[in-house]
Amino acid sequence: MLRVPPWTRLPLTLRWLRADFRCELCPPPPPHVPLSFGPLAPRSSASKCHASTFADTEPQLDQDAKACCSLCAGALQDEEGPLCCPHPGCPLRAHMICLAEEFLQEEPGQLLPLEGQCPG
Ligand SMILES: [Zn+2]
Ligand SMILES: [Zn+2]
Repeated sequence: MLRVPPWTRLPLTLRWLRADFRCELCPPPPPHVPLSFGPLAPRSSASKCHASTFADTEPQLDQDAKACCSLCAGALQDEEGPLCCPHPGCPLRAHMICLAEEFLQEEPGQLLPLEGQCPG
């Protein structure tokens, strides 16, 4: 099921509740789906977002109050947190929506981007 639409593009986690029941799936799950083990964590930590390619902004970037999106040049809102590039020294800061639209140019018709090359 993880290999067919719409699930194959969703930000899912494959969790084995008991490690002794784990087996290799064939076909394997999509590469963006992380594996986890054990019972579900309490709700408070379950809501934490896990971005694999782009990390949320570090708190130290908050001092740059005039930060602008590298793609649309609009102001970056503090509450949502801009996306930044994991490559050291890359200046890219972008709205999540702007980066999603950039990555989806390779896959018109899709709603959720899975991967893309940093425009910075
Ligand atoms: Zn933007
Ligand atoms: Zn970059």
